[in-house]
Amino acid sequence: MPDRSMPQFPEPDTSPFWESVKNEQLSYQQCNVCNTVVFYPRYACSSCGSGELVWKDSKGEGEIYTYSVVRQNRNPAFADLGAYVLAYVDLDEGFRMMTNVVGIKNPLTDIKIGQRVKVKFEKQESGEFPVPVFELI
Ligand SMILES: [Zn+2]
Repeated sequence: MPDRSMPQFPEPDTSPFWESVKNEQLSYQQCNVCNTVVFYPRYACSSCGSGELVWKDSKGEGEIYTYSVVRQNRNPAFADLGAYVLAYVDLDEGFRMMTNVVGIKNPLTDIKIGQRVKVKFEKQESGEFPVPVFELI
């Protein structure tokens, strides 16, 4: 299976996220001024505009906010997967991320909103960075 698309570096706003992913750690940002949890990684707080964002480690657990089952995808990295789950996951630390939920026998019947999930890191054959995906707990 071809690797998924990878970020092009230098990429100053997301590099710390990808460096932590290399160590199988999911990270997010929090504002030092107003405490807003910020995700996806960015230069300034999405609430108050401050540049004082700090990086924190997530436990990598949360629940499915919503999802869709993709039955066909022409991208070579996804073409052989068959039906797969694209989901928004609400992490326990208070951020939401778009991801895949993997390891499900029948994505059409075996997944529900609110199910608990945990991050796992999908290694890419040639890519330096694994991709964070989720599996049911
Ligand atoms: Zn802020």
